[in-house]
Amino acid sequence: MLATMRTSGGPCSTICSSNSAFTTAGIIMERRLRKLLPDGRFCGVSTKRSRHMASVRGGNNKSTEQKLGMALVRAGIRGWRLRASDIRGRPDFYFSLEKLAIFVDGCFWHGCPRCGHIPKTRGKFWSAKITRNRERDRSVTRKLRRQGLMVLRFWEHELRADLGRCVARIAQAMDHRQSAK
Ligand SMILES: [Zn+2]
Repeated sequence: MLATMRTSGGPCSTICSSNSAFTTAGIIMERRLRKLLPDGRFCGVSTKRSRHMASVRGGNNKSTEQKLGMALVRAGIRGWRLRASDIRGRPDFYFSLEKLAIFVDGCFWHGCPRCGHIPKTRGKFWSAKITRNRERDRSVTRKLRRQGLMVLRFWEHELRADLGRCVARIAQAMDHRQSAK
């Protein structure tokens, strides 16, 4: 049931089913990344540039997230809080009563299969970084579901294309959770 609620383009089907297999994959990924990123940093990038990239990340997420927040308010959907830091992965929206976690994934940073692209410059770095983000997303989703939470992930482009549909899916998920009680 939960799997059907996932947003489109999800990489969930490719993940390993067992925890140990995932951990192994994670370790391999980290090793690969470490080779590409000595000291976990992108060599050759100035602090200024690095800070700029970080701000781009925050800025994009924030505006998309704000739009969804405003749409939820307009739709009269309540009971959520933003960036719940006590929940694994810090969901962008968290409904405590329904135990429903909503993530808004930026297309670039989270490697959207539809519009995410790897820049030509420093391609290896970006590809490693984005792959790591995707691995983390999958791991968070799986762990939260194991804890009995419902997880919905939206791509940034889905929110841009049809905000109403995203809100409707959240409302539907809430109904589902409430009726399951
Ligand atoms: Zn996208």
